[in-house]
Amino acid sequence: MSLSSDFLKETKRNECKGRCLHYESGGHCDEIISAHSIQKSNQLGVIAEGGHVYCFNSDLSSMRKHNGKPVPKKIGVNRASTFSGFCKKHDNSLFKLIDDNPLRPSKEQVALYAYRCICREFFVKQNAQSTINSLADYPSLTKAQRNILQSAFAGHTLGFERLNFHKKIYDRALSESRYDEFEYMAFESKSPWNLQLSGVFFPDFDFQGDKLQNLGDLRSPLGIVSFFTAPTLRGWSFNICWHQSSNEPCFNLLESLRSSVSAGKKLQDALFRLSMSCCENHAFRISWWDSLAELAKSEIISRVRLLIDLEAAIPDNYLERGLEGIVDWEFEYVYTSLEEST
Ligand SMILES: [Zn+2]
Repeated sequence: MSLSSDFLKETKRNECKGRCLHYESGGHCDEIISAHSIQKSNQLGVIAEGGHVYCFNSDLSSMRKHNGKPVPKKIGVNRASTFSGFCKKHDNSLFKLIDDNPLRPSKEQVALYAYRCICREFFVKQNAQSTINSLADYPSLTKAQRNILQSAFAGHTLGFERLNFHKKIYDRALSESRYDEFEYMAFESKSPWNLQLSGVFFPDFDFQGDKLQNLGDLRSPLGIVSFFTAPTLRGWSFNICWHQSSNEPCFNLLESLRSSVSAGKKLQDALFRLSMSCCENHAFRISWWDSLAELAKSEIISRVRLLIDLEAAIPDNYLERGLEGIVDWEFEYVYTSLEEST
């Protein structure tokens, strides 16, 4: 057995280790389910062909076979985007409002979508931390391998603690039904839907390449933003949501998006760039991906790789340019909780 095969085994073991992340979880959470982070029937089902979608396969063995690149893989809608992060009772009761209704949007609905994004990220990050920790005592580690694991553990611990800080804020707000504390901007489209996603990130640079917050600052908490697609009455929407505790970087991120569109750049390109650069939880319509030019496919894969490769040097202006002209989404309506927007 090698370190990398044990790493994979440990990763899989942690993925299967379910627990309920609901804010009221406890001893009564007895039936942990494989919960969808992207809705199965109203989202994955809408873009599925033959019951399947494409998701990027970024596990190490697959990437090794493809020159270190993540590649799209056909996944059944029952498995796509799932994580063992909720018990059946809590998943059904908490997300009923969004699973059974199109996004209007209301603050309660966007808060629930955002909570699901945060919980999935929490699950993934906690697993990564515990995988690395369990390999730290691997018997035949070389000094160099031990150093890599130690620095990866430190990085994951920091990332996880930062996320945990926000999960607690979300837990409190949702448990007290304080949905007013959430802000959002939703872009609605009637264009064909070819991509589903749900993700969170700590915004570091804006759409002009200007710094929003310093990820290296260990003293102050960082703001976090969620983004996700959702079904609406007229079609679907691309949504950006955050809690008021993250107002500053999120306001500035959206202001830079507005400036970029005012300067003549296309909104759909910017949102697609954000999707591919800041999230690895996607599902694509198979025929849409297959119809893309090879150059477009390779540009998307390079973006996703930047996100996965911890040693990759990401330029400050990664949200400013790239991936233009690949999606053909027309946005017809904008909804927002922000008073100053029109
Ligand atoms: Zn539960």
